[in-house]
Amino acid sequence: MEKRNAEIAADFSDYRFNSAEGGNSAKAVMTRGISYAYVKECLKEHPEIKLIRIGTAFPFPEDFVLRALEGVHEVLCLEELSPYVEEQLLKMIGRHHLPVQVSGKLNAKVPHNGENSVELSAIILSDYLGTDIGASVIDVTDAPALPARPPVMCAGCPHRASFYAVKQAMKGQKAIFCGDIGCYTLGNAMPLDMVDTCLCMGAGITMAQGFSHLQDDTTCFAFVGDSTFFASGMTGVVNAVYNEADMILCVLDNSTTAMTGHQPHPGTGRNMMGNFVDKVDIAKVLEGIGVKKILTVDPLSLEESIAAVRECAAEKGVRAIIFKSPCIAL
Ligand code: SF4
Repeated sequence: MEKRNAEIAADFSDYRFNSAEGGNSAKAVMTRGISYAYVKECLKEHPEIKLIRIGTAFPFPEDFVLRALEGVHEVLCLEELSPYVEEQLLKMIGRHHLPVQVSGKLNAKVPHNGENSVELSAIILSDYLGTDIGASVIDVTDAPALPARPPVMCAGCPHRASFYAVKQAMKGQKAIFCGDIGCYTLGNAMPLDMVDTCLCMGAGITMAQGFSHLQDDTTCFAFVGDSTFFASGMTGVVNAVYNEADMILCVLDNSTTAMTGHQPHPGTGRNMMGNFVDKVDIAKVLEGIGVKKILTVDPLSLEESIAAVRECAAEKGVRAIIFKSPCIAL
C-alpha cells in the first residue's frame, strides 16, 4: 500500500485539478476545497498572485507542489478543518530544505475553527499580501437575512404520531424523554419538544434507566428506532431489566434504517446480500430479555396509542411499547 500510495502521488502530480494559476509572485496562496473558490473570488483583481490549488490532498502530490513552488518564497495555506495541506507542505519543505516560509493555521494566520468565507478569506489575504483586496468582494451587508429552515420530519412520518401520543398521554405529569439517533432525533424541535437527551446510539435507553434510579417522581421514557434497537439498544434493555429500572421503552419501528438511506437491519427481513430471510422479532427479543409488559400499537391510531402509554405509565418496571408503522418513504 505504501508503494502504491507513492505511485498514486506521482500520478496525481499530473492531475488537472492540482493546478498553479495566476502570476509568478514570490508570495503564493495554496488552498483546497471550497476555500479555493473563495480565494479565486478574492484574487480576481490580482492575477499576479500565484494560486496553487490542491485537488488531491492525499497522497500529497509532491512533484506537482515542488514544481509549483519554483520562485516562491512564502506560501499561505488557506484550508478548512485540520491544517492537513499545511502540515504536508511543511514536511516536504523540510525534506527538501527549501527556503520557503509557510503561514496558515499553525502560526494563527488562519483561524483553526469555523468555516471560511469570501469575506474571511479577503481579510486573511489582505493581511498576508499587505494590501487591501476587500474592494473586489461583493458587498452583501444590505441583503436580507435568510429565513431559518431547520430540518423537519417528512409529512406523514409515523414518528411524529408516536411522539404526539406520548406527549398527550403524559400531559401535566413529570416525565423525561430520552432520545436517540435517527430521524426521530428531529422530535427535539418545537412543537414536539420530545427529545430531552441525545448522546449516542442506544444511550436513550441507558440514560432513561439511570434517571429512573435517581428520580422517583418522574416517568422515564426512552425512544429508540428499530435499527438502533438492533445496533446497540438491546444491551441497554438487558441492563435495565437486570438492574430493575423503572422505565418505558418506546421502540419506533418504521421497518427500516431511514436516516442513513434505508439500509436493511435484522427486523426488515432482507439481509445485506439482498436475500429474504426470517425477521428478528423485536417483541420476542424483549420477551426473551425479560420485559414483562410489551404492547404493540399503530401510532397513526391516536386513541389506541395514548391508551397504551397511559396503561404503561400506571405500572412499574421495564415496560415497552412498539409503535409500528412504516416510514412514509417506504
Ligand atoms: S425518512 Fe421516514 S422516518 Fe425519516 S422523517 Fe421521513 S418518514 Fe420519518
